[in-house]
Amino acid sequence: MSASVGRRTATEILDYFGKCPRCGYPATAWLHTVVADGRTRREVVGVCDSPCGWSGPVRVTSMTKQGR
Ligand SMILES: [Zn+2]
Repeated sequence: MSASVGRRTATEILDYFGKCPRCGYPATAWLHTVVADGRTRREVVGVCDSPCGWSGPVRVTSMTKQGR
């Protein structure tokens, strides 16, 4: 076990209403939070709910807006 290995947690995004670009079936989005080297990175990965098996990066319009 190495300390340099990042920690990854996945949370389902419940307010995601996107569709699979391959078959058009509603997809599920997961927010992956990766903690590595003291930094936190977020990736949103979409997974198709149908057996087509698609998964890929998606863009989520979140309710939480990042103000400047
Ligand atoms: Zn699909």
